[in-house]
Amino acid sequence: MSTAIYSHPDCKRHEMGDWHPESPARLQAIEDQLILARLDDFLEHRLAPLADPADIARNHTPAAIALVRDNVPAEAGAYYPIDADTLLSSSSWLAAQRAAGAAVAATDAVIAGEIDNAFCAVRPPGHHAVPTGPMGFCLLNNVAIAAHHAMAVHGLQRIAIVDFDVHHGNGTEASFKHDPRVLMVSFFQYPLYPYTEPEPITPHCVNLPVPARTNGTVIRQLITEHWLPAMHAHQPEMVFISAGFDAHRDDDIGGMALVEADYAWITQQVMEIARLYAKGRVVSCLEGGYNLSALGRSVAAHVRVLAGLD
Ligand SMILES: [Zn+2]
Repeated sequence: MSTAIYSHPDCKRHEMGDWHPESPARLQAIEDQLILARLDDFLEHRLAPLADPADIARNHTPAAIALVRDNVPAEAGAYYPIDADTLLSSSSWLAAQRAAGAAVAATDAVIAGEIDNAFCAVRPPGHHAVPTGPMGFCLLNNVAIAAHHAMAVHGLQRIAIVDFDVHHGNGTEASFKHDPRVLMVSFFQYPLYPYTEPEPITPHCVNLPVPARTNGTVIRQLITEHWLPAMHAHQPEMVFISAGFDAHRDDDIGGMALVEADYAWITQQVMEIARLYAKGRVVSCLEGGYNLSALGRSVAAHVRVLAGLD
C-alpha cells in the first residue's frame, strides 16, 4: 500500500483565538503521534496546493466564497467573526484554500494511481460548510469540493462519503441531498450541534442519529446493519471520509464513547468497500477532534489501517 499525507504549514496559520478548541495545535499533535507511532516512514508526505477557484465554485456560491475571501483581517491578531465560534484571522483564506486543495490533489493522485489512498491533515475542517456559507468552525467544504471534482473532472458516476465525526455533516448533506450519484453515510450524536432535524434514511443518505454515551459496540452494529448494505448497493467508484475524531470517549466536545480500535475497525470496513468497488481509492480528510492526545492516537489508528499495516 502507498498512503500519502497531505498538509501544509499554512493550515497552522489559521487561528481563532487561544480559547478556541479548533486550534493549530491539533495538526501538531497529529504530526507528533504519527512519528511516535513509527508510521512516518511508511507515509509519503505531500504539500497541499491551493485549491483551484473553479473547484471551490462547484460547491459554494460566489457570495459564500466572497464572505471568507474578502473579510480576512489585514493585521495579525485581529478577527472577523462569521458566527459565535467561526472566525477569520489573517491567514484563514490561505488555510481554507490549502485544505480544499489538499482534498482535490489527493483525489487526483489516487485516481491517477500514484498512491493508493490519502489522509489530508488539514484545517479548517469542512463538513458543516454549506454551499451558501461557512459555519461551525468550517469555511469551505473540503470533502464536498473534492467529490464534485471527482465527478466533474474525472467523470466518476458513483461516490460514497463516510462521515464519522460526532457532529452531523449538514454541509455535505446539503451539497448532495438531491444528487443520486453520491451516497452519504454517517452517524452523529443527536441532539448536538448543528441540531439539524435528522432526515429519514434513503438509498443515498444513511445518516444515523445516536444518543450521547453511544459506544463502539453499538456503532459497529449500526454500521454493519445500515452503512454496509447501502454501500454494497451503491458500488462507489471512490470513497471519501470526513474523518472527525470527536466521538472519542476522551473528547469533551461531544458525549460519545468511541476508542482508537473503533476508528481502526471503521476504516477497515471502508477499505473493504473501496477494495471491492473502487480500486481501493480512499481520500480521508480531517474534520473534528479536540482532545489533542485522543486526536493524535485516533488518527494514528486510522492511518495505520489506510497504510495497510493493520
Ligand atoms: Zn465535529
